[in-house]
Amino acid sequence: MNIKIENLSKIYGNGNHAVKNLNLNIENGMFGLLGPNGAGKSSLMRILVTLMKPSSGSIKVNELDIIKDRKEIRSMLGYLPQDFRFFSSLSTWEFLDYAARLAGMKSGKERRAAVDKMLEEVGLFEARDRQANKLSGGMKRRLGIAQALINNPKIIIVDEPTTGLDPEERIRFRNLLSTISTQDVIIILSTHIVGDISSTCTNMALLNRGELAYSGPPDDLVAQAEGKVWLVKATESEYMEINEKYPVISNVPTEEGWEIQLVADSINGYYGENISPNLEHAYVYFMESKLQQWT
Ligand code: ADP
Repeated sequence: MNIKIENLSKIYGNGNHAVKNLNLNIENGMFGLLGPNGAGKSSLMRILVTLMKPSSGSIKVNELDIIKDRKEIRSMLGYLPQDFRFFSSLSTWEFLDYAARLAGMKSGKERRAAVDKMLEEVGLFEARDRQANKLSGGMKRRLGIAQALINNPKIIIVDEPTTGLDPEERIRFRNLLSTISTQDVIIILSTHIVGDISSTCTNMALLNRGELAYSGPPDDLVAQAEGKVWLVKATESEYMEINEKYPVISNVPTEEGWEIQLVADSINGYYGENISPNLEHAYVYFMESKLQQWT
């Protein structure tokens, strides 16, 4: 599978320029779309899932065009929106059966087999008779991914996948997606949570104010922050100054004052050493240096 996005722009009726001349190539595997609120992630997702047309530019899925071949592309898509809701009275099994019917699976026998198999895969078989809207947050999320996957989609789009999940459920959900991504599919995760991407995605894009700020492997973004992450030992008054001047990632009180992790090109006048960057450091460095908030 291949998704080729060329010169894509979206301007809303009120003049908001949500996506600006975006060029991006997405191949098989797990792809992370990262950016702060307002970066344009949801707008791009809505265009990708054919719920909204771009103002200009094109998207090709293999050789199909997202506007001209909308119907065909739709049949390849599985989508888990951020605010996914369940119909109140349906059991988990009934809900998934309903989703399968909507996805065009007409034969009852075929549907029953597909629903049972999917419930097994997402670990909800035991909960199949429980009311869907009474499941735990993590289970609801897994049922959400199950409905997105029921028709064996080639492109799976998940918006803010781990919002509201506890750490254990978060890991379980990520692992579930990783398992699927070994097939001939593209999984796009849109998120503002750096951890969702660092642990799973082979490639990523960073959006900022509608523009592509970075695309490539997460490790290459991390490498750009090499030499820019500092562990600084500071007194109480230095800590106040540093907090004003630099983006502080973390701070730990010590007997003498504070140990602070920050990102910056240099830390003139303070005592500190470089430490190895991770994706969170790199993300903050990248965003802050784009905005040029420090000197
Ligand atoms: P993200 O998902 O990264 O938070 P969005 O795509 O939701 O970003 O928003 C990008 C920009 O487009 C923001 O400035 C937002 O206010 C604007 N926007 C989003 N949806 C609409 C809409 N329906 N009408 C007008 N402006 C919108």
